[in-house]
Amino acid sequence: MPQYKYGFIGAGRMASALAGGLVDAGLAAASEIAASDPNAEVRQAFAERLPGAHLHGDNAAVSRHASMLILAVKPQVMGAVLGNLPLGESAPLVVSIAAGVPIAKLEAGLAEGTHVVRVMPNTPALIGRGASGFSGGTHATADDLASVLQLLEAVGIAFEVPESLLDAVTGLSGSGPAFVYTMIEALSDGGVLAGLPRAVAHQLAAQTVSGAAAMVLETGEHPALLREAVASPGGTTIAGLAALEQGSLRSTVIGAVKAAAERSQQLG
Ligand code: NAD
Repeated sequence: MPQYKYGFIGAGRMASALAGGLVDAGLAAASEIAASDPNAEVRQAFAERLPGAHLHGDNAAVSRHASMLILAVKPQVMGAVLGNLPLGESAPLVVSIAAGVPIAKLEAGLAEGTHVVRVMPNTPALIGRGASGFSGGTHATADDLASVLQLLEAVGIAFEVPESLLDAVTGLSGSGPAFVYTMIEALSDGGVLAGLPRAVAHQLAAQTVSGAAAMVLETGEHPALLREAVASPGGTTIAGLAALEQGSLRSTVIGAVKAAAERSQQLG
């Protein structure tokens, strides 16, 4: 049997995005990737996204032969998947992207000594613009963490954090897209209130958020300095910023991240 460089258990949206990122980044050929999923339609969609990849209905056909095994199933089925996951003789690095499944549970369900890394990705990883956090388990080595960083950087940016901070990552980058969608909708509503057609307001709002985020990432400037550069004395922007302060936007957003992080901690 072949040794696959990357094996995916679950071939759904996240798995195909990660696998696509690996191929696009030149980290693997499609023929070095295998994935298993009980759903034939899902397997077909994965094969169409990555012609040449090996698809199986049986998890063991992948788990026995992968150097890095990525568990990309929903948290609710993780227990059942771990209970029936034979690993090869040269045991693979096992990477879980399931939200809220602790390292202790993953390690308890795998053979003693298995190298485990837990990842918290976010939905923009589906289009190659993810922001992820990850933590190594008891037996994970520096090389393991470097390999996972390489995987995640194929679909965005990623930071290693202690597992205790993955709840904070969940509250910020995991839930953050939903907060930003709300902001985009509100900006668009504001544009409509000021007289713009909805379709135009919607596009202007989304591009403004994307452009402002790119300014922060690409210039490396502190957001406060970038904001100051837009707000001329007595001008329009400072009038709007005063209205934002009146509505306590900043403390509301801080509270949203804190509430999501606390909820993640309760669920974990
Ligand atoms: P998905 O539903 O698209 O994919 C999961 C796949 O697992 C499905 O195709 C399903 O058929 C398959 N599956 C079910 N039981 C299985 C079994 N016993 N063995 C093998 N495969 C099985 O879900 P997704 O969005 O790709 O999410 C995958 C994981 O990623 C989840 O744990 C989720 O928490 C995590 N995650 C996803 C996102 C995201 O943006 N989609 C963000 C953060 C975390």
